[in-house]
Amino acid sequence: AKRAGRDCARYFLNTMNQALDQRLEIETALRHALACNALQLHYQPKLSLPENQLVGVEALLRWKDEQRGWIPPDRFIPVAEESGLIGALDAWVMEQACAQLARWRAEGVDVPSMSVNVSPLRFHQDDVAAHASSLLVRHGLSAGDLTLEVTERVMLDDDSRPREQLQKLHAMGVGVSVDDFGTGYSSLSYLKRLPVTEIKLDKSFVRDLELDQDDRALASAVIGIGRALGMTVVAEGVETDGQRQLLQHMGCDVAQGYFFARPQAAPDLVAWVTARRA
Ligand code: C2E
Ligand code: CA
Ligand code: CA
Ligand code: CA
Repeated sequence: AKRAGRDCARYFLNTMNQALDQRLEIETALRHALACNALQLHYQPKLSLPENQLVGVEALLRWKDEQRGWIPPDRFIPVAEESGLIGALDAWVMEQACAQLARWRAEGVDVPSMSVNVSPLRFHQDDVAAHASSLLVRHGLSAGDLTLEVTERVMLDDDSRPREQLQKLHAMGVGVSVDDFGTGYSSLSYLKRLPVTEIKLDKSFVRDLELDQDDRALASAVIGIGRALGMTVVAEGVETDGQRQLLQHMGCDVAQGYFFARPQAAPDLVAWVTARRA
């Protein structure tokens, strides 16, 4: 038994070390990527229902490592959050996204607004509102051009800092969107207390919309709540016309997903916008 225990402990330590090694490896490569401009943003259109008008794009981080190939955000964002790199990373994203929108405006490419994901942790490290404010001025954008997407956990944080930041952003006129709505917490009271302008129905509720009556009921309830509170409701992960139609009938305002367009590099996004206008 003693021997088995020792083997078990050794196995545990080995696995832990491997996980740690991998985390460290990703962290080191990510620091390098950030410093060497090896990261880029892709942009995914958000479209109004039923008009099918482009209302904005969401910036999504992409990382292609020389040795490892494409590394998905779901793998490196958590590492960035654990290592404290997330503040710098998200600041870089916000800067690039605003610069891109300003460039499009100068080139006459009609992209009405830019949405950027911000990790809840960044609100503890930085004055996000001050950063947003200076970025908007520097790039000649107005506050309404920018929406920050945050997950529910930032709304419920015990620390008041994130909430104060969101209040400031809202007072400036920057959009505040609750990402992955419905997946986090059961309490909805924060929607009343906090300056939320948009909620994003999580794609897990959209996926089986055509098959599952319960998912339809949940989606419909979320859309109802959002609309009753005067918020824009965005459905993410829309992959079929059937899903689009159901969401439209439920009164959903905006949809985003592969059915309309994938996240794409800036030149491809411009081609997409131009082709639609023609
Ligand atoms: P998210 O903010 O919920 O973004 C939506 C994800 O769904 C994106 O994955 C997008 O590419 C994907 N998606 C879009 N349309 C469809 C569809 O029709 N079907 C399906 N199955 N998926 C669709 P992605 O780009 O891999 O990003 C994953 C997550 O990583 C994001 O989830 C977000 O939480 C995080 N993330 C991405 N970029 C950033 C960033 O710049 N900063 C921070 N803090 N997080 C980011
Ligand atoms: Ca509409
Ligand atoms: Ca998002
Ligand atoms: Ca989401």
